[in-house]
Amino acid sequence: MSQIAQHLLQVKERIVEVARRVGRGADHIQLLAVSKTKPLGDIQAAYAAGQRRFGESYAQEAALKIDTLREQAACTDIEWHFIGPLQSNKSKLVAERFDWVQSVDRDKLIERLNSQRPAGLAPLNVCLQINISGESSKSGTSEQEIFRLAALVARSEHLVLRGLMAIPEHTRDEAVLAAQMARMQALFTELAQQYPSVDTLSMGMTEDLELAIAHGSTMVRVGTAIFGARDYSQA
Ligand SMILES: *Cc1c(COP(=O)(O)O)cnc(C)c1O
Repeated sequence: MSQIAQHLLQVKERIVEVARRVGRGADHIQLLAVSKTKPLGDIQAAYAAGQRRFGESYAQEAALKIDTLREQAACTDIEWHFIGPLQSNKSKLVAERFDWVQSVDRDKLIERLNSQRPAGLAPLNVCLQINISGESSKSGTSEQEIFRLAALVARSEHLVLRGLMAIPEHTRDEAVLAAQMARMQALFTELAQQYPSVDTLSMGMTEDLELAIAHGSTMVRVGTAIFGARDYSQA
């Protein structure tokens, strides 16, 4: 078994373990493998181990990977999620290739993704990214804007509103983290009551996936625990 396959199994065991502990069904928690900065061979190893959902953060790097796999007609049933900050001038790269964009946080991006999504493809699945910690360095929209942006997505012909995504504060203070995650859970519940298409709370990474699942996460985004530490000098 490849090392990546072993790591995937370990992450799935963590998900099953915490789901049992908090009384949730593990099959309601999806695992997104975050492959940013990692080579195609790593994606193919995870694919060979059964992984089908992948997350990427850099539009040009991701477009190159996706196009290369398509040229090879390899891994054709991967579901691609864009999870990084998205500059407007890169939105077309994403609209033409991805299945999901989880980092939608402003009107202009919604308008561009909707108009750039090719008509022959299924509508693009959208999560609104919320800056739940309120840190000025973080992307994402504020809580006050969620319902206005949600309405804009909902009336966009080539987009489907699926839910919310957040990257809580990077802190060892579990009470701070838990409070931010509980707030996300409440906002998600409120949004899902208004929009039947909303089924995704994307929250939890390598370090905090247990706490996120305890707070209702339906999708954890895991990079390091599957692919190892990222070397940004190689990115
Ligand atoms: C890189 C990244 C992850 C994965 O983080 P790890 O700590 O490596 O698991 C998850 N979500 C987003 C938005 C990311 O950019």
